[in-house]
Amino acid sequence: VNAIATADLRKAYGDLTALSGLTLDVPAGELFGLLGPNGAGKSTTIRILTGQLRPDAGSASVLGIDPVDDPVGVRERVGILPEQESPPSFMTPREYFDFVGSVRDLDAAVVEERVETWADRLAYEAKLDTMHTDLSRGQQQKVMVTAAFLHDPDLVFIDEPLANLDPIVQEAVKRFLRDYRDAGNTVFLSTHDIDVAAELCDRVGIVNEGELVTTCRPAELSEER
Ligand code: ADP
Ligand code: ADP
Repeated sequence: VNAIATADLRKAYGDLTALSGLTLDVPAGELFGLLGPNGAGKSTTIRILTGQLRPDAGSASVLGIDPVDDPVGVRERVGILPEQESPPSFMTPREYFDFVGSVRDLDAAVVEERVETWADRLAYEAKLDTMHTDLSRGQQQKVMVTAAFLHDPDLVFIDEPLANLDPIVQEAVKRFLRDYRDAGNTVFLSTHDIDVAAELCDRVGIVNEGELVTTCRPAELSEER
């Protein structure tokens, strides 16, 4: 069963074509990576799949939901970790998680338990009550990772998951994504880094100029290097 399916997705920004007919399937339980250079259309694909952007043409299904018809339904079910997003500067991590939990309609005790687990796993427990403006970039990223997983989604979208993370956080995030996949969940990530794709993903889709060029196993990527 597919967690994600798209057929012939097209999107232009003015006269710039970002997606020129992107078709791909991601089976449930896969750690899938969309690999391509800057400008290939990776973020546009993620924004369409998460109901943040309407395609000009084509269709998509995410956990059986059409993100064009029911963007809110998709966002309720999936986790989203956009690139270079920061938490609000006027809150502490704990306040931010309480806010996310209330938006997601989660039980406060469940939020507290998950936050403890995450802060421990990513080693920032000591910072849970620190204002965001006083957190390092890496600590802010850990907070965003936690927020994306707070409602325990079956599927997460992550744009450039390891970009700008310090090496220790990178290892923690990689380990977590594998564990999360091993528990039966699906990961859809984008990266421009062939090493990240080769090391982390079960299957890689290579995208260029708004089209899926091919999909392959990570071992096949290594052979090409
Ligand atoms: P990637 O994530 O692979 O870097 P994007 O999907 O962000 O690719 O971008 C694909 C192309 O569309 C790029 O040429 C980019 O500059 C352009 N683009 C993306 N978003 C917009 C936008 N909001 N307005 C105009 N052009 C955009
Ligand atoms: P990425 O390279 O990770 O895909 P981008 O830098 O393309 O990210 O996109 C970051 C933001 O800037 C997005 O909201 C996107 O819509 C916007 N954007 C990207 N390219 C353009 C562009 N050429 N013109 C206007 N907005 C753009």
